Amino acid sequence: PNGRVINFGAGPSALPASVLQEATNGLLNFNGTGLGIAEISHRSKEFTGFLSSVESSIRKLLAVPTTHHILFTQGGGSAQFSAIVLNLLARHRLLHPNLADDERVMDYVLTGSWSKRAVEEAKRLGGGRVNIAADARKFSKDQKSFDNIPTHDSYAFSEDPALIYYCDNETVDGVQFSAEDSSPASFPFHLLKQNSLLPLVGDHSSSFMSRPIPHLADHAVVYAGAQKNIGPAGLTVLIVRQDCIVDVNAAAKLGAIPVPLTMAYKTLADSGSLYNTPPVLPIYITGLVLQHTLDQGGLSYFAALSERKAAKLYTAVKEGEAKGVLRGKVKEGSGSQMNVVFDVLEGGLKNFVAGAEAKGMKGVEGHRSVGGVRVSLYNAVTEEETDQVITYIREFVEQNS
Ligand code: PMP
Repeated sequence: PNGRVINFGAGPSALPASVLQEATNGLLNFNGTGLGIAEISHRSKEFTGFLSSVESSIRKLLAVPTTHHILFTQGGGSAQFSAIVLNLLARHRLLHPNLADDERVMDYVLTGSWSKRAVEEAKRLGGGRVNIAADARKFSKDQKSFDNIPTHDSYAFSEDPALIYYCDNETVDGVQFSAEDSSPASFPFHLLKQNSLLPLVGDHSSSFMSRPIPHLADHAVVYAGAQKNIGPAGLTVLIVRQDCIVDVNAAAKLGAIPVPLTMAYKTLADSGSLYNTPPVLPIYITGLVLQHTLDQGGLSYFAALSERKAAKLYTAVKEGEAKGVLRGKVKEGSGSQMNVVFDVLEGGLKNFVAGAEAKGMKGVEGHRSVGGVRVSLYNAVTEEETDQVITYIREFVEQNS
């Protein structure tokens, strides 16, 4: 309907059509106010009421503990590359005022293009020393690709770091930590010093709300740009533990890097995420998507669905590999459930993409930095749509083997 095609794009990406339909009503008249959602004051009781309902949806879906605040901000995932460093260095400064900058260590787990960006920003900001706790490239086939999740014996964490960083799902490279502790591809939570102040930071941008977050309560900060599973670009959701909401001005007096007001978690927490005008329209659409996510059965439903969709697609890629037409880009067991990446060895990438488009499937081209194919299976991509791309892949393999 409405000339819509199947959207396998990596982000911004597919959203449920029923929700978009509902949102068009809200654009004209939000909850009977007579004002459209893009026209209403963010301080109106109708909008602030809606904002708290979005917060409670997130709390319900992820079982967010009461120790953690839910905050809303802008600037995408990228702004958090900076914000986490600034806020957690400030926190570390208050805990340990007398350390020199090079004694203030930030542990980064490097598994792909997005964690690499985060590392680059931490190095650029300074105020602490970056330790690469694990570099997945060292364990790759060619020593330079992000094609695997390192095994548990590959990590070297620091003694008392200001932060410990990982990216749950690497959207470009197609690798993802397993949600099962027993898997060799899980994040090694058991290697971290267990205390209630663990400065663990997770970028969950491209897997947010596709499944529960393992060990959520142990995290200092979880953040996610909205534009994959939950809404339009323009909104970033933060889940921040109470002890990470610190007086950044007091830290600056002790020598920490001053934190821009709109990036300080304390500003957001103290104002209920309304220090300045929030992204009203993205929050609205996200709220509708989250309600829909709850109505469908919550994260146990979506976790099972994601697992099924990805498993079938990986099977089809493997068949194509056996016939010499396709080649998966990532190590078995490290593959993302959200972004499945592979190369086309026979028949031509251009033909693969054009053939998909001719069948009404868009967005399958890999990221410009790595090439190949990337099929993204976010929550709004149905099982039937996944089956359609799999049928197409099998046809392509038959024709070119
Ligand atoms: N982290 C991950 C895992 C991402 O996929 C992205 C963007 N796709 C980002 C961070 C950066 O987000 P943004 O473009 O919203 O700044």
